[in-house]
Amino acid sequence: MSRPAGNPSYAAELGAAKKAVALAARLCQTVQQEIVQSDIQSKADKTPVTVADYGSQVLVSLVLNMEVTSGSFSMVAEEDSEDLRKDGAEEILERITDLVNKTLAEDGSYNILLSKEAILSAIDTGKSEGGPSGRHWVLDPIDGTKGFVRGGQYAIALALLDEGRVVLGVLGCPNLPFTSVSNLSGSSSGDQTGALFSAAIGCGAEVQSLDGSPPQKISVCTIDNPANASFFESYEGAHSMRDFTGSVAEKLGVQAPPVRIDSQAKYGALARGDGAIYWRFPHEGYRETIWDHAAGSIVVTEAGGVVKDASGNDLDFSKGRYLDRDTGIIATNKQLMPSVLKSVQEAIKEKKQASSPL
Ligand code: AMP
Ligand code: MG
Repeated sequence: MSRPAGNPSYAAELGAAKKAVALAARLCQTVQQEIVQSDIQSKADKTPVTVADYGSQVLVSLVLNMEVTSGSFSMVAEEDSEDLRKDGAEEILERITDLVNKTLAEDGSYNILLSKEAILSAIDTGKSEGGPSGRHWVLDPIDGTKGFVRGGQYAIALALLDEGRVVLGVLGCPNLPFTSVSNLSGSSSGDQTGALFSAAIGCGAEVQSLDGSPPQKISVCTIDNPANASFFESYEGAHSMRDFTGSVAEKLGVQAPPVRIDSQAKYGALARGDGAIYWRFPHEGYRETIWDHAAGSIVVTEAGGVVKDASGNDLDFSKGRYLDRDTGIIATNKQLMPSVLKSVQEAIKEKKQASSPL
């Protein structure tokens, strides 16, 4: 696919983003292999956060700052240093500092040693509010922390916003089978593990192994009959209304059981045609953040797919740290989207009628 006229090239930024994500993935893999209870802290909202979330954010910030020197730097990222500056956090800060420095030394690209203060400042480069103007990096240093802690799927998700739209995205998925999620159960062993998905606007989407195999173009599946479609949803039951998605699947005549995976690895798997639909219907009151969808959505759209909210609108990443959207997010191919939207809207109507029968 060629680049539409008028789109600047983001080749340098994409290269930097891939390097940043691959390095952060290495740190995450080290931590996941030797995860111990002391690595797991509890944030105010009780989601687990590990030294790897912070370490990943530091490495991504550092690599982007080293590799992209033009323009000012702005990043919207999930973590901040507040908890690490509190009494009692010295040990965990020490551990993050050691991990980051060890990962940098092993990689060898940069001859630097970060102090604890430099670690805290690097984390806080992610405090930007984003918005409709200028360029902003958007980072989830570990998307799917619950999967990460469980030894399951997670992703390092990095995107770039330019004037309010996502122009590139990179997803590092260290635990995803390289060729297909049908190998998730481990039944067809021998498949390499770890995938790096990337996309730049107008240039298509690609996958390569995390250790740097040549990139291959990817595209969404061409299934047009919902009866033959399979769908992805969150592994965590609390993240999506399964009774609702079950009723949508029934309306569509979907036969296959849901494929449940943590994190934006779902967007990557969809983009290479491992499944036909990814949908997400959080419980009422949950606000989606931009770092949970920016990278994943461009990987899917550049692979020929579409990503919409439940009303059929495009996702709007220009409103700051939160996604401004109607209930639910649906990603699928162009052939299936109309029927999926129709079933979703019917199911929403029925749900409303059931909760207020008068
Ligand atoms: P997934 O594995 O696709 O559910 O995505 C993981 C992401 O879900 C995390 O990074 C959180 O930002 C987000 N999340 C956390 N709590 C909820 C919730 N109650 N409903 C929906 N998403 C959530
Ligand atoms: Mg997340």
